[in-house]
Amino acid sequence: MLLFILLKIKLRKSLKKSGSLKGEIIYDDLSGREKPLLSREFMITGKPDRIMKVKNGFIPIEYKSSSHDRPEKGHILQLGAYFILIEENYGDVPFGYLEYRNKSFRIKNDDNLKRTVIEKAMEVRDNSYPHRNHNSPGKCAKCPFREVCEMSLV
Ligand code: SF4
Repeated sequence: MLLFILLKIKLRKSLKKSGSLKGEIIYDDLSGREKPLLSREFMITGKPDRIMKVKNGFIPIEYKSSSHDRPEKGHILQLGAYFILIEENYGDVPFGYLEYRNKSFRIKNDDNLKRTVIEKAMEVRDNSYPHRNHNSPGKCAKCPFREVCEMSLV
């Protein structure tokens, strides 16, 4: 756990795009101490790594220890779930950042992404989502659908 936190702090310092944001950090889970956010409307839950309050809304930033040349679909969905959570708990979310080890990506918040996240949440709740293909409690702990998932390991 300590190694993971140190790695995240190192990543936070070395990564760029979200580093140019001007605003106030209002939620910082790099220490692992923040409470999870909950959407009562969609029964989605999650802990973004960081939320910044900027002039036109709130920006989630998710740090990943892996390298990718394009944003991973699952990571976009995770960020999309954070958009919903933050809108319900704080206010408008124009976009968010996925910060990989080698690159960072700005992901727009739009209706398509929201619809996809809500559809996934419904699939998991109705148990029509593909069965769990891993044994990683850590994955489930970070999964926004765990509140409605019968196969969650946590
Ligand atoms: S809670 Fe775990 S098993 Fe359920 S959808 Fe999420 S990652 Fe898969």
